[in-house]
Amino acid sequence: MRFIKNKGTIPDSLKSDKTNEIRKEVIKKQSYNSKHNNYYKKDDIKEKLKGVYENKCAYCEKSLLDWYPNVEHYRPKSIYYWLMFSWDNLLPACPQCNTNKGDKFKLNGTKVVYEEELLEEIHNDIENYNAKEKPLMINPEVDNVENKIKYEKTGKINSYDDRCKYTIDICKLNRDDLVERRKKVYDDFERRVVKLKKEFKVATKEEIKKDIEARIKQETSKFIENAFNEGVEFLLFRRYIAKEFLSEILR
Ligand SMILES: [Zn+2]
Repeated sequence: MRFIKNKGTIPDSLKSDKTNEIRKEVIKKQSYNSKHNNYYKKDDIKEKLKGVYENKCAYCEKSLLDWYPNVEHYRPKSIYYWLMFSWDNLLPACPQCNTNKGDKFKLNGTKVVYEEELLEEIHNDIENYNAKEKPLMINPEVDNVENKIKYEKTGKINSYDDRCKYTIDICKLNRDDLVERRKKVYDDFERRVVKLKKEFKVATKEEIKKDIEARIKQETSKFIENAFNEGVEFLLFRRYIAKEFLSEILR
């Protein structure tokens, strides 16, 4: 759930006459089929989402390099059919997060209904919708939750914040494959440092000790660098480890 500061301009295909026509059909029927679905999955939309999200899932931060992302609707299209082609309602997600989330979208406020908004009016309106509905689901383009999320060295993600807890629960962000992948990031780094620390202990020559110290420093710098490299997987996890556990590993 890396915070996205700027989603940039609306992809052309979301502004096209054809998309407008397709949207009108969806609104009229209040339902959609695969023909309609194609219009929020156009290449320019997927490419833009991949770029903004650095090829990572909006919810779990797993790399999407191995497959083309699912275009996920923050507000489910089955309920908010008129927002099916809204730029600020589209996020890239891995198939697991997308499936887990499904149509779940719990509110603390009052649900909005369709009020004959035009296509050009619904691309940057999320803050108005959120103010009325107060959704529990985190949106990485609106909510910066970095300081509300805690991780364990075991790769588990936790939070005391109700909205974060809801999102972790709904997307199943503690599912086995994710926990293992995050744990591996920690374990690999710790193993390398521990090995160097052992070598340091048994080293007798001053120049060898100095060399080992430099290598530990290098490993640490690389880990911190990756924690701020937007293109790397599990950025929030890496930053949390750097902040909370680095001194413990280096001790
Ligand atoms: Zn995901």
